[in-house]
Amino acid sequence: MKLIFLGAPGAGKGTAAERFSELYGLAHISTGEMLRSEMKNGTDLGKMAKGYTDAGELVPDAVIIAMVKKRIRARDCENGFILDGFPRTVAQADALLEISDIDMVINIDASIDNLIARISGRRMCCGCGACFHTSRYHDETCNKCGGKLYIRDDDKEETVRTRIAVYHEKTQPLIDYYAGKGLLKTVDGNGTSEQVFVKIEELVAKI
Ligand code: AMP
Repeated sequence: MKLIFLGAPGAGKGTAAERFSELYGLAHISTGEMLRSEMKNGTDLGKMAKGYTDAGELVPDAVIIAMVKKRIRARDCENGFILDGFPRTVAQADALLEISDIDMVINIDASIDNLIARISGRRMCCGCGACFHTSRYHDETCNKCGGKLYIRDDDKEETVRTRIAVYHEKTQPLIDYYAGKGLLKTVDGNGTSEQVFVKIEELVAKI
């Protein structure tokens, strides 16, 4: 099963993809998480990407496409995968067509108020990249690996507004792109993560 989770920053793509991939034995490919890992390790790619991510802008297509091409060839992708945060531009979607087929694109649609509320309470684990929200999780360490939780540099309010604007300009056109290919399903992303997850499961069961 090869899925794309599409949605604005804070829509809940990462949370749903993490849970869904664990349950169904699919590789979870989060390009944002891959970049954060490169930044943490101080690689050339990480140093280059940091300027873009800190500003809320997209990392150049060629860099991201090369990264995903390599990742998709890894063994753990043989059973299928969930792409979370990729593609984000039409150029990336065109490149993906040449790398792999896709069974379904799930567009998680949440209101702007929800996007902002979710991002402002978001905490990430520096160890495994797991994502928590302060309204439901009050510890300062991760309950999976014990890593310390931190606030992403690009989750500051000003940067979030840029990221949402970039989403509208560059990523939203993918909704029509995939609808035109008959691959798009939209779920209401305004409920709890549990409600969103159930809706995604119902859709995927029809594949
Ligand atoms: P995310 O964790 O998906 O919100 O991604 C965090 C940041 O990483 C984004 O704001 C971009 O700067 C960068 N990024 C992640 N995925 C992509 C992508 N597919 N194309 C370009 N930039 C990306």
